[in-house]
Formats: sequence, structure tokens, C-alpha cells
Amino acid sequence: LEPAYSFMIRARLPGGVITPAQWLAFDDLARNYCSRGLRITTRQTFQWHGVIKANLKPSMQAIHDAMATTIAACGDVNRQVVSSVNPQLSSQHQLVQEWTQKLSDHFIPRTRAYHEIWLDGEKITDEPEEEPIYGDTYLPRKFKMGIAIPPTNDVDVFAQDLGLIAIIEDGKLLGFNVAIGGGMGASHGDDTTYARLGSLIGFVPPEQLIAVAEGVVTLQRDYGNRAERQYARLKYTIDHRGLDWFKSQLEARIGFSLQPVRSYQFDQNGDRYGWSKGEDGKWHLGLYIESGRLWDNDDHQLQTGVREISKIHKGQFRLTCNQNLVIADVAQQDRATIDELVAQYGLDGYLRQSGIRRHHISCVALPTCGLAMAESERYAPELLSKLEALLVTHGLEEAPILLRITGCPNGCARPYLGEIALIGRALGRYDLRLGADFIGERLNIVYRENIAEPEILSTLDTLFEAYAKDREINEKFGDFLVRSKVIPAPTQRLTPIVL
Ligand code: SF4
Repeated sequence: LEPAYSFMIRARLPGGVITPAQWLAFDDLARNYCSRGLRITTRQTFQWHGVIKANLKPSMQAIHDAMATTIAACGDVNRQVVSSVNPQLSSQHQLVQEWTQKLSDHFIPRTRAYHEIWLDGEKITDEPEEEPIYGDTYLPRKFKMGIAIPPTNDVDVFAQDLGLIAIIEDGKLLGFNVAIGGGMGASHGDDTTYARLGSLIGFVPPEQLIAVAEGVVTLQRDYGNRAERQYARLKYTIDHRGLDWFKSQLEARIGFSLQPVRSYQFDQNGDRYGWSKGEDGKWHLGLYIESGRLWDNDDHQLQTGVREISKIHKGQFRLTCNQNLVIADVAQQDRATIDELVAQYGLDGYLRQSGIRRHHISCVALPTCGLAMAESERYAPELLSKLEALLVTHGLEEAPILLRITGCPNGCARPYLGEIALIGRALGRYDLRLGADFIGERLNIVYRENIAEPEILSTLDTLFEAYAKDREINEKFGDFLVRSKVIPAPTQRLTPIVL
């Protein structure tokens, strides 16, 4: 006998694109081996929780059989590459998806050990393996890449180690603005760790993108802090050595100079819900999935609902970085059938839910995350109901307010970019942070430390009242807090010289 170890498995699904056949396979896996359905993560992929040790291998094999993998979805490597899901601009999504896939493929570890251990078990070779990018020691810590397509910053491009902003004109992908050194993780009570927005350092045409990305990754491999793990992210390497130093090293390494940053504009970092028509005439349905958790209970059958849709759907599914789901590429004549299934299984919540609920994300936290200090996903529905009651009294139930909750400061739900954020300190206690903007270009700051629900609610009630009375037309909550000096202006991303 041994303890009943259980594990979490995470897939690598570049850009969050899934076929209906894959969905059925992933759903089977959840039903056969997991304890809590399917969960869409903030990095546009699936996690399966509660997989017991004996079921690890068949689970990995099922993912492999569905033409996907879990390689480098965790670990000190370049992880899942994320990209914008913008249904109205389906041709642009396709252009960018190609580069999302290329980046993901280029930075996948070359080792065959994964196949030996988890797939057929055969020893592939006795020869020493070579990792051309990661070398013998891999990266100092995890590394994250994401591509945003303006005007949507749904990937929170400035939270990525390497953030890329696609510049598209007249349907042609001209290239990418390059932002480096974004990152969300921090530690409570340690000012030497912090969230940081990525710094824009230039523009690169598509044919030079892989070289630039490899230059950034290998600089971090060579100069990242390997002595203190808490400082091992790219943001600390850049701040320790200087942005100018990093850029000059990068240009020396790749052998060419980056071009000046191109003009772009974001209008939001949330998702769009409901039906929208793409440029190619196909339809896309954005669905709100609370905390990304697809499961069945007495109120709804979300997991079964998407399973039934996947049996008749001829397009794709796209997972979003805000834990939501897009049923993509639907022909006009198929919309009614999809609508019926969405309503039948309770997937149509986006039609009724408040602005704050539709714009909320929360991390897994307890009971499955070993780093959690407080509840997040399990607490969110209860907290949201209480916040909604306050918002209704101030006539703000439709206000799209970005709320982010995490069980610790590690930052998986990108809490430092929430207009309101709760970051767990202990059971039932959180830091309340306020004042990020609505487009992912300004960090929030701590407003109250280590407070419990009564103080969270009373504090926000006062601020909601002031917002309802004094906001300007179309002014977002975070911007209002800064303009009205409730909080001092927090860190904003500074735009360098723009062409
Ligand atoms: Fe991530 Fe912390 Fe939430 Fe765990 S508790 S999922 S480490 S943010």
C-alpha cells in the first residue's frame, strides 16, 4: 500500500484551439480519471485535477492519442504559448495562430524521456540527448509567451515574460511589437519581489520573430538568477542588469537591431460574449464559464452541455485566457441547434449575469493548489453574489468591473491587473488591491492589507457609491479610483517612441 497520491495534469494547447474530437477525448479523460470535471486555465488550456497516480499514464496516453501533449505545460521551460481570441477578426486570429504554433513548437524540449516514461515505455536511445535551446540545465524558472491582437488584450500581453503585439494592416501581418519582462508573481511582505509590466523594446517582422524570441529566452537562460529561485524570472534579470543592457545584449546575440515600436491601441482585456460574425461569415459564440470550471451539478450540466455540442459542432473550440470558451466557426444554419443546446444545459449564463461576474477570474487555490493560503475559486461565487447585491443598490449591476481573486500572491489569475483584486493571506483574509485599468496597461496597488469579508464588502460598498455618483461617462472603475485620488496613480506601462 502507498498513500493515495493525486495529481494535476495540464495540456499544452497553443492558442487554446481544440477540435470537437479532441474535446470529446478530453471530456472522456475527465469523466474516467478526474475528480472535478474540466477546468479552463488562465493560460488558455485545460487542467485535470485529482488524477490518482495509477491513472497518470493512461491519462497522458489519452491526451497523446487526441493529438495533444502535456510536454512543457509545467516546468522551467517556455510554457503554453497564448494568443488573442478575437472572433470578429477570424482571419487575423488565423495569421497569429500560425505564429503561436511556431513559437510553441520551437521551444518545446527535444528530450524523448517523456515518450519513454509516459507513452510506449520504449527506450528510444542510449545516446546523450541534446537540448539546443535549454541546454543541460533548462531555464532558471518558467517562461511565458503571449500574443495579443489589438484592440483586444485578452492575453494580458504585459504580464508575459515575452509579450508580442501583432501589428496587422489591410489583412497583412506586418510583425510584432516586443515587450519583455512582464510577470505577476510576488511574495507577501517582501518588496524585493513584485509584479511587473512588460517593457516595449521594439518591433520585429514575422521572419525575425523566432530569432528574437530565442535571443530573449537564451539570455534569460544564461543570465537569469539560479541562486535565489524567487528572483529567477526574466523581470528580475532585466531590472537587475538594466533594460538597455538587456536590449543591447539581445541585439548583439541576434545580429540585428529591433525596429521602433509601431502604433497600436487596446480597448479591453476581458472577453466578448454572445454571437459575433467573423470576417469570413462564420459565427462565434463566446460563453462565460465561471472560474473556467466545466462540471455538472444540480443547477446546470456545463460539462455534459459542451460534450453534446462537440458531437454536432463542425468548427473549433477556443479557450480564452479569461477562463472562458468560444464555440468558433459555426455556419449560419447551425446556430439554432447550438443555441438550443447552450440553453438546455445552462451554458447561457452570460445573458443574465452581472458585469462584474462576467469580468471575473479566479485561480484554483484550495483544495488542490499546494501554495494556496486562502480560498479563491470556491469562494468566488459567494463573494460575487454579495458584491452584486451592493452593485444593484448603486445601479451598477451592468458595470463591467474586472475582479480577480487568487489564493496566494503567485498571481495565476493575473490579480495585479484587476481593477479590484483579492490576494489570499490566510483562510478568509485577503489583501485588497485596487486601480488597474481595463486594458491591462496599469497595475493595481494595495488598498487594504489582510482584511476579512466584512471589511472587503464595506470598503467596496463605499467606493461603489462614490463611483455611481461621480463617474464620468464611460469611465471605468479603476480609472475613476485614480482620477478621484482614492488611490495614488499606480504603475503604468510607459510607451516608448512610437512610429
Ligand atoms: Fe496560483 Fe497561488 Fe492560486 Fe495556487 S493559490 S493557483 S499558486 S495564485
